[in-house]
Amino acid sequence: MKRDTRLVMLLLLVIGCSLTSLTIWKVWSSRERALAEVNVHGLNLTQALNTYTEGIVRQSSLLLLGLVERLEAEGNGPAQIQRIKTLIDSQQSLMPQLSGITIYDRHGHWLMSSNRPIPAGANSSDRAYFIHHRDDPSREPFIGPPIQSRSNLEWVVTISRRFSDAEGQFAGVVSVTLGVENFLRVFGKLDVGQDGAIGLSYTDGTLLVRYPFREQDMGRNFSKSPIYAKYLVDRSVGTASYTSSLDGVERLYAFRKSESLPLITTVALGKDEALAAWRIEAALSAVVVVGLLGLTGLIGWFLILDIRRRTEAEEALRDAQQQLLASNRQLELLAMKDALTGLANRRCFDETLAVEARRAQRDATSLALLMIDIDHFKLFNDALGHVAGDACLQAVSKILESCVRRPSDLVARYGGEEMAVIMPATDSAGATVVAQLMLERLRQANIAHPGSPFGQVSVSIGVAAASGMQLNAVPAMIEAADQALYRAKAGGRNRLAADA
Ligand code: GH3
Ligand code: MG
Ligand code: MG
Repeated sequence: MKRDTRLVMLLLLVIGCSLTSLTIWKVWSSRERALAEVNVHGLNLTQALNTYTEGIVRQSSLLLLGLVERLEAEGNGPAQIQRIKTLIDSQQSLMPQLSGITIYDRHGHWLMSSNRPIPAGANSSDRAYFIHHRDDPSREPFIGPPIQSRSNLEWVVTISRRFSDAEGQFAGVVSVTLGVENFLRVFGKLDVGQDGAIGLSYTDGTLLVRYPFREQDMGRNFSKSPIYAKYLVDRSVGTASYTSSLDGVERLYAFRKSESLPLITTVALGKDEALAAWRIEAALSAVVVVGLLGLTGLIGWFLILDIRRRTEAEEALRDAQQQLLASNRQLELLAMKDALTGLANRRCFDETLAVEARRAQRDATSLALLMIDIDHFKLFNDALGHVAGDACLQAVSKILESCVRRPSDLVARYGGEEMAVIMPATDSAGATVVAQLMLERLRQANIAHPGSPFGQVSVSIGVAAASGMQLNAVPAMIEAADQALYRAKAGGRNRLAADA
């Protein structure tokens, strides 16, 4: 039954462990899947944004290329500039992202501005893009760092090209300004959650645009952040996950370097936010599994209780059975004993005598029998009362028992004040020795008997022994012992007589 309980416990353990490990594995893999999906989503966004940015830059470069061609072919006199302005004005609506086109001469003076009148004495010779084109003969477009417009404080990004005069000398710069606002409008239409961010920066880490917009981010350099310092070193596209040093929020970053421009698009999504749906699913799974585990445990508990109850009932039954057997044995023993003297009773005497007679016949040994009767016992009772008579019977029994030595010898109360002794493997002579010892010990015990001529309690003993064919008749043997006893009584009592 202990084994049954253990088996149930093992079963519960196996069920519990497999359920738990399966759930952990399932929850873990669904988390991995959720993160992978977020990464794919982020990479797709960077792809779309990258294409968008490249498109705008390419459009602007083409526009600039057309203007440079014109300026180089026709010069930058007032008439030409006026014609260019008219042309630009008529096409302004085709490129709404453009916040303005400006033409500067070789000294940085403004020659034309598409979207507002030229401020008096305006000079941009200190701007990064102007310095770049003045000092670098390359005809490639230049994407400048974000700058804040001096007139309306709006943040803009400039794309510019230089133009030369007829001799090939630096003649000025044409620039397109793209309002950061335009990018923010597009980025803002994408859902990146509360903790998400979209960034556009140069390969050197300088930030061009960030959504959500934060004034303090403009122009910042992120070359120290893990994306630039670690991931972009040997890759142009990928994903990463780390905790922002700015706000302590862990984000999943997808980044992509443009193939044709020195630009990097980054999409960051808050990890907590990205895993929100997964978290609910995991919590639900956990609740269901805990519930199931609890239910399994409860059923198991009841099962174990049931087994225990059954075991206890069985044990109680076994105990009761054992007790019954023990009391049966006790009863059997009692059934063989005489209550007053503690000697074997008549029934036991009869059975033992029959058994021993057969055994003696089988073993070809002699079996001896003593018949003992207390002398003048009626007078003892009459003189001292029945209670004293009973005590005397007990005392005599003890003395008689003390005289037999072999375990196989049996002293029994034959009836009334008459005792009998069965002595296996004993002949008449051996039995006579024991009978004499009994007479002697009783004499020594000296139990007072007022009615007896001897003054003390004495017995008469009839000795009989049988062997061989004689053993076939047990009653004859008893009869022989009785006769011997009678002779002892007749001979004067307090003596023994042997069967002739
Ligand atoms: P005898 O010497 O011839 O044997 O004389 P006796 O008086 O012993 O002979 P009898 O058989 O006439 O008397 C036996 C008496 O033993 C009768 C009875 O009252 C008494 N007796 C028998 N069994 C018990 C017993 O269990 N307790 C007591 N106290 N007395 C008993
Ligand atoms: Mg008698
Ligand atoms: Mg007697």
